[in-house]
Amino acid sequence: MSEKHDDDYLHRLRHSAAHVMAQAVLEKFPEAKIAIGPAIEDGFYYDFDLPRPLTLEDLDEIEARMKEIAAEDHPFEYRELSGEEARELFADQPYKLELIEGILSGGGDEYGQVSGEPPRLSIYRHGPFVDLCRGPHVANTKEINASGLKLLNIAGAYWRGDERRPMLQRIYGTAWASAKELRLYLDKLEEIKRRDHRTLGKQLDLYSTHEIGGAGLIYWHPKGALIREIIEDFWRKEHRKRGYDIVYSPHIGRVDLWKISGHWDFYRESMYSPMDIDGVEYLLRPMNCPFAVLMYQTQTRSYRDLPLRWGELGAVYRYERSGVLHGMLRVRGFTQDDAHIFCRPDQLVDEIVGVLDLSFFMLRTFGYDEFDVELSVRDPVNKEKYIGEDSGWVSAEAALKEALQFRQIEYQVMPGEAKFYGPAIDIKMHDALGRGWQGPTIQVDFNFPERFDLTFVGEDGLEHRPVMVHRTVLGAMERFVGGLIELYAGAFPVWLSPVQAILIPIADRHHEYVRQVAGQLRQAEIRVEVDDSGDRMQAKIRNAQLQKIPYMLIVGDREVEAGAVAVRLRTEEDLGAMPVAEFIERAQKAIADKRDL
Ligand SMILES: [Zn+2]
Ligand SMILES: [Zn+2]
Repeated sequence: MSEKHDDDYLHRLRHSAAHVMAQAVLEKFPEAKIAIGPAIEDGFYYDFDLPRPLTLEDLDEIEARMKEIAAEDHPFEYRELSGEEARELFADQPYKLELIEGILSGGGDEYGQVSGEPPRLSIYRHGPFVDLCRGPHVANTKEINASGLKLLNIAGAYWRGDERRPMLQRIYGTAWASAKELRLYLDKLEEIKRRDHRTLGKQLDLYSTHEIGGAGLIYWHPKGALIREIIEDFWRKEHRKRGYDIVYSPHIGRVDLWKISGHWDFYRESMYSPMDIDGVEYLLRPMNCPFAVLMYQTQTRSYRDLPLRWGELGAVYRYERSGVLHGMLRVRGFTQDDAHIFCRPDQLVDEIVGVLDLSFFMLRTFGYDEFDVELSVRDPVNKEKYIGEDSGWVSAEAALKEALQFRQIEYQVMPGEAKFYGPAIDIKMHDALGRGWQGPTIQVDFNFPERFDLTFVGEDGLEHRPVMVHRTVLGAMERFVGGLIELYAGAFPVWLSPVQAILIPIADRHHEYVRQVAGQLRQAEIRVEVDDSGDRMQAKIRNAQLQKIPYMLIVGDREVEAGAVAVRLRTEEDLGAMPVAEFIERAQKAIADKRDL
């Protein structure tokens, strides 16, 4: 790619397009109040306070006007100015005035102010339009290629993301150096839409959310619940194989417990308010950890008992702003596939390696094969955000690094991404569209054992401190299943498909044979449905196709006579008639191999 196409150039191009858009909107609505308009990944937006809701026709009109303005050949000009001058220039723009006061009072970091430097106000001008802006921009509006520019949609956005402030109208757009790059990007958007788990979740009847029941809470319908059950069964089996035990613990705990654990002081903004039970305050749990600790404490543990690996599919509740909630991917209640490992310090690296191996095995089984690995450590300048002594943090980080090096895994260090009690390895998966998904996390913690005074009796007969590993492999069941829906665009591999085969009788006289075949399939543990509706065969096939059922088994006179089924795959491939026993063998093999069809 040429230098002109690099990310930095595209960022300037898109931010310049945002300015041009604001000019076009102000021409159309002279009374418009403009808020902020940054470049974002793959595009840009600008927030406006307008006299009426925008329509798609408005968007076309604004886009057309933007293309004219761009072609008008206006240079972008930078200038610094005093507070006095800025207040005067933006006298009729209240949102800008608020930004100006923010910058002048030294709270301007969010607008690109370099901390430690005196407040500096600057504007960019092109043609008649002036914006409070630090830039950078392209040199001239002409650089905005009309055939690479498109406005995408309109959304509501609170001023400064605050639900108590005015709701503004946000216009999203994108800008690329060429028509071809725009086309590729729009194709990708189309594909993302086709895979959207919220649409597919409805179409396949997997889950729902309910405003009246509370935002960000997932209701698993029978088919979605079945997928979850299959995943959980597989998860339990694989954990047992690796020496894990399974535990259950309560969803609420006394505030005092969360004070000892440190959550009350270091994690409060993610927790819901206490509830009063007989005058004692309880909290809904945001994590399962303190419960595992209490169970550890019920016995004297010897060095021979360790490691203890306790898995728990534990429901937790964490506060998320309503604006960021997103289907199954960003929720307020979710089930973590959690586990806590209590081990001796000399076992720590082996335990981490074991979790790494399990993580990659699980993710590959579910169809992910590209990963980014991050080592999340403390923010070196904000150590007060974390509990415990430096020494624990240093040992924990060293153990995580050693395990990564042992498995020769490349990783990136991410300062400031650690949890409050310890550093972590975070693994992200990539999907076909190059999007990253949060996956396993392995956290090493010297702090909870200290705070709860956990001990084990060593070979020397003395008390020693165990180390705690917190880990999830899939993350949250909600997010993981949401991710799988998008990964497979709803066409799950056979072992995960809620309905694996559907029997389609051509006429009423085939119903009895079909019922008998369905019984055979169920005996063979194949999940089967019968479409005995009055629909025509083509409609039944279309319906099964929409439900993304792997195998359609069509039955007419010939199949009844031969003891066969005509097998059609959801890929539209026609395998023709085969004896029922042969189909069962094929399906069972696909299920056992966890592969597609
Ligand atoms: Zn700007
Ligand atoms: Zn934990």
